[in-house]
Amino acid sequence: MATGTLTIDLGALTANYRALAAMSSAETSAEASAVVKADGYGLGAALVAKTLAKAGARRFFVATAEEGVTIRQTLGQGPEINVFSGHMAGDTTLIRNAHLTPMLNAPEQLTRHQNALPDHPFGVQLNTGMNRLGFEPADWAACRDHTTNATLLMSHLACADMADHPQNAAQLSAFHALTAGTDTPKSLAATGGTLLGPDYHFDLTRPGIGLYGGAPFIDAQPVVRLSLPIIQTRDVAQGETIGYAATYTTQTPRKIATLSAGYADGLIRAMSSNATLWHGDTPCPLVGRVSMDLLTVDITDCTDTPEHLDILGPHQTIDTLAAAANTIGYEILTSLGRRYTRKVITP
Ligand SMILES: *Cc1c(COP(=O)(O)O)cnc(C)c1O
Repeated sequence: MATGTLTIDLGALTANYRALAAMSSAETSAEASAVVKADGYGLGAALVAKTLAKAGARRFFVATAEEGVTIRQTLGQGPEINVFSGHMAGDTTLIRNAHLTPMLNAPEQLTRHQNALPDHPFGVQLNTGMNRLGFEPADWAACRDHTTNATLLMSHLACADMADHPQNAAQLSAFHALTAGTDTPKSLAATGGTLLGPDYHFDLTRPGIGLYGGAPFIDAQPVVRLSLPIIQTRDVAQGETIGYAATYTTQTPRKIATLSAGYADGLIRAMSSNATLWHGDTPCPLVGRVSMDLLTVDITDCTDTPEHLDILGPHQTIDTLAAAANTIGYEILTSLGRRYTRKVITP
């Protein structure tokens, strides 16, 4: 079989949720929701949402109404499903039928929502300085009297993974100022904000990446392992080149393995000649360009001939692999391809 094996550890996912939930509730009794956008950060929205619901999550966040419908079909009635993109033109039927809660981002969305679905719940997203989604302070001031039945007031931190960044405190005080004098539940923190401490927790935290084992939650348990089969090995003499564009030249005779996975499987080309794969405790450097379906790896240091190598596993997290490709763990996870055989470890 020439497909890689992606193993998803639901016990680790559960443990990460519980750890972030315990952190959220420690001093402020904030509740932890679960962010499951982008197909559960690439791991499968249904699988992830079911597991997190079992772990205790009662509120979920997705990016779009369509994603919300999938989560509703999986979880049934009961859990609250919130949509970051708010109420877009064309969303009304989805929002009503799947009973989704849009996080409204601007006066136009508020008008659309209240005209189309006057008694249907909604939340409000406020711009506190990230300048991505949310009401501008002046628009919010003009609209807030019409939002007293909102279920949630939320904002998002731009720099929460940098604990010392002054923008964290600036956004915190902007959020306090914008939400002063309301009893509506509030939410500011994603994973990074949850780690910044109780000042940032308010009523609800919104962890995503930390659930899936990624930074900045450095104590997270790794959730994914990715093992790739070796199709062929060969001895390559000194001075030969490997792969497209002949970018890599052997300095000494090397043993090279060709593995079945490539950029079409989310192992992006920026990993070329930079990433490391592992045979047990032996590091094996990726040499030459990443192809669409193939990787070439130097296995000279292996004492036996492996049948497969790990690219994510005990020695390499999504974040260390991301660093080798000059990106972030989020992109590694959400790029994981459709061709892998997916195995699930249940606790
Ligand atoms: C994606 C997202 C989250 C979750 O962020 P993580 O960094 O993955 O924890 C929370 N809130 C908003 C608004 C988001 O877009």
